[in-house]
Amino acid sequence: MSAARLPSVDRLLRSPACAPLQQRYGREALLKTLRDLLDELREPARHGQLAAIELTDAVLAGRAGERLAAAHSSRVRRVFNLTGTVLHTNLGRALLPDEAIEAITLAARFPLNLEFDLASGKRGDRDDLITGLVRELTGAEAVTVVNNNAAAVLLALNSLGARKEGVISRGELIEIGGAFRIPDIMARAGVKLVEVGTTNRTHAKDYEAAIGPRTGLLMRVHTSNYSVQGFTASVPTAELAAIAHAHGLPLLEDLGSGTLVDLSRWGLPKEPTVQEALRDGADIVTFSGDKLLGGPQAGLIVGNKELIGRIKKNPLKRALRVDKLTLAALEAVLGLYRDPERLAERLTTLRLLSRPQQDIQAQAERLVPPLAAQLGTGWLVSAAPALGMIGSGAQPVARLPSAALCLRPQQPKRLRGRALRLLEESLRTLPIPVIGRLDDDALWLDLRQLDDEPAFLAQLPHLQGAVE
Ligand SMILES: *Cc1c(COP(=O)(O)O)cnc(C)c1O
Repeated sequence: MSAARLPSVDRLLRSPACAPLQQRYGREALLKTLRDLLDELREPARHGQLAAIELTDAVLAGRAGERLAAAHSSRVRRVFNLTGTVLHTNLGRALLPDEAIEAITLAARFPLNLEFDLASGKRGDRDDLITGLVRELTGAEAVTVVNNNAAAVLLALNSLGARKEGVISRGELIEIGGAFRIPDIMARAGVKLVEVGTTNRTHAKDYEAAIGPRTGLLMRVHTSNYSVQGFTASVPTAELAAIAHAHGLPLLEDLGSGTLVDLSRWGLPKEPTVQEALRDGADIVTFSGDKLLGGPQAGLIVGNKELIGRIKKNPLKRALRVDKLTLAALEAVLGLYRDPERLAERLTTLRLLSRPQQDIQAQAERLVPPLAAQLGTGWLVSAAPALGMIGSGAQPVARLPSAALCLRPQQPKRLRGRALRLLEESLRTLPIPVIGRLDDDALWLDLRQLDDEPAFLAQLPHLQGAVE
């Protein structure tokens, strides 16, 4: 092999082969990449280990191009959520409807009346953008919005109960994924936790006995992500509100998902609605924007006008405030609730949650042949009924009847684990990564959320060779 000489970085940079790269990534990034590449090749070139063909402008530009493409690719990647969990926190929860996406684009592109009252020309309040809608939809007197529901709980507790005691049932001292624990949040809010009752049973008299001169509020938390069954008792909102009000105390209810509509209308498990909590007497209700509501990440605090006023004056409010894009999306999503008849068509989350099982089953059956063809004889591909879930804490025990592509390795038993891991990894490294669920020695792709079937099919050829 004849020893080849490295080109100079300046000449390579000016070569026609590199021109498109400079156009795309800029001179600086290209220069640094070429320098690094040439530095790595210097030793092997000196020892005559490289053929001339490996050092042509075209080959070097090609290698630089690969590096630049990898370095400049976006870390934010679209994926297919085929886990069966619709509101998957790690995969971004609710998908926004077109109306909200358009609102975000508008708010991103142009100046807007975020805190500006167009009628008077004076300074406004960003909450005003959605106050009317929220009042109309929930019957609440007032509303304020913050970054997420965890922030809503923190802010409400701190505003109404700092340096006082907050009474809550032991059965509601929950932890939500991502280290949100009610006792910790209470402590950080400066509220002294007073637990009453037991894990499975708490009665009205337990609250009564705990109320004293230092009590600042009563709290009720929707135990959204677990369920205690059997010998249980809890005090309903209406009864707890009566106790709180008899002592001149506010009742704060954290609904978690907090929906605005009765989901049983679409055959889904019933979740408590915000209207019900308010009607039953909760003074402040908090809930998420990106769970069942189907909107952007946000925390809504609704309820009594005077209490909301105190919450809005808390300096923490400024630290937890929502941005304009969120508010724009939230307004658009809330607007869809004005027409409940068409909500399931227009609100993406609800459309996916209410997709009929037969539809999903038919889709699974349709996709078996192309997938089986790609995976080859090592895999048994079938369309199987599956049980998904809402996710994000809503209805932890309720299951959504769905259908999945079930991919089962046909190798001897000892090789199956490895085959499954390889397949799972190949799916994850597709151009649009596919995220499924491993269970019972098979990989399950729950199709409830597979909207874009053409894109799914189009990338199947990439799987070939990856799994044999
Ligand atoms: C999800 C949840 C929260 C946290 O809401 P985020 O919007 O994720 O911050 C708080 N409380 C309950 C009961 C929840 O289910």
